[in-house]
Amino acid sequence: MDVRLVKEIAGRLEERCVGEVPPPGLSRKDHIVKILYDELAKLLGGESEFSFKPGRTNKVLMLGIQGSGKSTITAKLAKLLTRQGYKTGVVGADTYRPGALVQLRTMCERSNVEVYGEEGESDAPAVVRRGLRHFGDSCDVILVDTAGRHKEEGELLDEMKRIGKAAEPDLALLVIDGTIGNRCYAQAEAFHKTVPVGGIVVTKLDSSAKGGGAIAASAATGSSVMYIGTGERIDDIEQFSSTRFVGRLLG
Ligand code: GDP
Repeated sequence: MDVRLVKEIAGRLEERCVGEVPPPGLSRKDHIVKILYDELAKLLGGESEFSFKPGRTNKVLMLGIQGSGKSTITAKLAKLLTRQGYKTGVVGADTYRPGALVQLRTMCERSNVEVYGEEGESDAPAVVRRGLRHFGDSCDVILVDTAGRHKEEGELLDEMKRIGKAAEPDLALLVIDGTIGNRCYAQAEAFHKTVPVGGIVVTKLDSSAKGGGAIAASAATGSSVMYIGTGERIDDIEQFSSTRFVGRLLG
């Protein structure tokens, strides 16, 4: 976890451990663990307050660096939302990674989710505009998958800004690889400056990673974790629970 956050948590822990008397029946040790638990949950921002609005198209922009699991979670989320009764469409606007569109189509095919994309087109914001026009108001939710890598980071962030303008999303979901740990804070902060992040998805939590980066991403963007990815299969997605997550983090 980012060292600034560790210091902040340690400071709060010290302050409360010294200042608070354990409630009757709770040992000092258990009280300290409880305080740590509370402080971590607080940094995670609790349960997300975002909900999809009925009767209109909700546009969701998927952000994150290449390899974070963005396309996979887009397909997983499309299936989950479809199962929850939302008519869902996907726009494949990763015009940078070869094969990204085919991968997205293959994953979404089995759940009968339509993917709009333009093979060979490099203007991602234009693909987003045409994709949104293509679906019109036929969907409850449209997920927009974006590129995660460019020749340089500045170029990627600039493209995200232009895509953000083209999509005018109701929600920008930042996808974070649960295994990357303390690099999360800077990454989340950089994305948040280009398109305001409204929610976080942490992937690859089936590995030995505990996902401490999620706390950093929450702190950097002021938004809550909404979903987690727990494997490579299409159904390996869960709605986030901060209680379970902090429990796992503390072991
Ligand atoms: P993108 O570049 O951000 O779109 O990333 P991809 O969706 O292509 O995923 C990158 C790699 O991570 C692929 O090999 C995925 O199968 C894998 N992956 C994605 N999500 C998970 C997950 O929750 N658990 C595991 N173990 N692997 C995942």
